Amino acid sequence: MALHKDEAIVLFKRSYGESDKIIRLFTLSSGKVAAIAKGANKSQKRFANTLEPFNHIRVEYFEKYGRGMVRIENADIVETNSGIEKSLKRACTAGFFVEFVDRLTKERERHDDLFNVLAEALQGVRAAEFSYDDILHYQLRMLEVLGFMPNFHACVYCGQAMAADEKIFFSKERGGVLCHRCAPSLPHQVCAKGVIEGIVSVQQGNGSTAPGFQAASGCAEKGPVYLNNGFEKAAQDIMEGFMTFHLDVEFKSYRILKGLIATNSE
Ligand SMILES: [Zn+2]
Repeated sequence: MALHKDEAIVLFKRSYGESDKIIRLFTLSSGKVAAIAKGANKSQKRFANTLEPFNHIRVEYFEKYGRGMVRIENADIVETNSGIEKSLKRACTAGFFVEFVDRLTKERERHDDLFNVLAEALQGVRAAEFSYDDILHYQLRMLEVLGFMPNFHACVYCGQAMAADEKIFFSKERGGVLCHRCAPSLPHQVCAKGVIEGIVSVQQGNGSTAPGFQAASGCAEKGPVYLNNGFEKAAQDIMEGFMTFHLDVEFKSYRILKGLIATNSE
């Protein structure tokens, strides 16, 4: 049995029997891996606190414990989760990123870029409480490295490049923006000017308030005019519609997190 050495981020942990723990790791070289840590529950010394969720660790494991699991032999810390426990919002934000990676990747699929984005996102949450824009930024970067990014740049039907102020029709079904000629014949929602550009701007790390963004209006499909946090609501609406339609996932952690974002911005 070969001993594998790798870096990993701990996605999930639970007790197994009296003395063991079952861990889900997102490893740099092998993607998502299910693992068992023998004796981790019994002896605090065995793995100390290395196998806690959100920790970035170096890990040594043997292949084939059974049932597709590997057996963790050694683990030590690269970066602890310290800081994430400071508030419920931080814990939920980290939980959302981890759930995102867990749900959108398959076992044993290597994703170097995603690993790096997740590590950077968790690093950010350790250091500070994230705003909605920060969360959206990492969500978009993760979608991009996974190849699931909506097209916010050219009409998804005819391919025509579009100016910023033309981007008001979004089709979650088609996975991107529509031009004014294609929109009437395809399913779409109408967004306030600046929302789509705001999302692009957040992805690029320039902040959400793109020129021309009107804070007092959101997606027209929803009816009521949004106040103050118009961008957040409109962007959430676009992203949730897209994720649910194309990836068929709803995140438990995101539901809680959304409640916390709403409370904070009122
Ligand atoms: Zn078009």
